[in-house]
Amino acid sequence: MAASRITATIDYDKSGRQTGFLRLPHSVHESAYGWIPIPIVCIKNGSGPTVLLSSGNHGDEYEGQVTLMKLIRELEPAMVQGRIIFLPAANFPAAMAGRRTSPIDGGNLNRSFPGDPDGTPTKVIAHYIDSVILTQCNYAFDLHSGGSSLMYVPSALGTVVPGATERNKQVLELLDVFGAPIGYVSNRPMGADQTLGASAARRGAIALGTEMGGSGTVTPAALKIAGAGVRRILKHLGVVPDVKVAPSPGTRLMEVGGPDYFVYTPENGGVFEPLVELGDTVKAGQPAAAIHFSHTPWREPEVVRFERDGVVLCKRIPGRTERGDCLFHLGTEYRG
Ligand code: CA
Repeated sequence: MAASRITATIDYDKSGRQTGFLRLPHSVHESAYGWIPIPIVCIKNGSGPTVLLSSGNHGDEYEGQVTLMKLIRELEPAMVQGRIIFLPAANFPAAMAGRRTSPIDGGNLNRSFPGDPDGTPTKVIAHYIDSVILTQCNYAFDLHSGGSSLMYVPSALGTVVPGATERNKQVLELLDVFGAPIGYVSNRPMGADQTLGASAARRGAIALGTEMGGSGTVTPAALKIAGAGVRRILKHLGVVPDVKVAPSPGTRLMEVGGPDYFVYTPENGGVFEPLVELGDTVKAGQPAAAIHFSHTPWREPEVVRFERDGVVLCKRIPGRTERGDCLFHLGTEYRG
């Protein structure tokens, strides 16, 4: 495959703290020889592992972006043993638009890996992260949340692979170190194999993610969990050994299984009335939501039910809903 057209204004091998941009060539009407400036920070000192900290992979997920911007300003090279590469607005055009996907090409960065050096801007970004950044990393933490359309119980997310006993042990340990209320254990690479986390795993790095709140906003509670979690991980890995952070309160390991964990809107033209709260424990057959039909308000609402027992980890945010929208998903205790 061809080399990336992206060039970095920083040198990954240089010690100290560097701030700059990934320059993504973008020739458009307003700027014939222009480039898209994707911010990047590299802090390198002493010896230790290389860690990627990324957010803004989905542009409307802000908890990770705020957490990483704070950390970038806080960390001095002398505090670091190893190297941290920060990519706080990974899909920069999407982050600037406050949208999940890029306004330039409609691309969903976290469904674009391993990318394409000759593709659209989103594909080019994915290819650069995969082929240039992840090849240098021992660990990759991609901070997500529910975005505009979903809200999560704050969760750290790790993937276990059948047979990879040592690696899986490390992933579960990191979920515990992170200390989010939920440690979400997935057996598919971050839910899909076109994700940054899946690319990181293919490159041999240990990948962790989050689903930290959502609703297209930021809350003090979610920021506190994300900030402490990232600091604990960096301390645990010895990359920022002396960072000040409280010990982990532990986590509740949960897993999300097949289609029966999800509740979807069955018909068009509705208003979503949730009948449960995030974090509730529910039973199979319990009403999850009532869908009210705006075109025929005299009609009884359609009541959608949970198909299995579980804990409500995620709910839809917008009030309007159409057939195929995810309203809720459940989690159950992780069985190992
Ligand atoms: Ca996301």
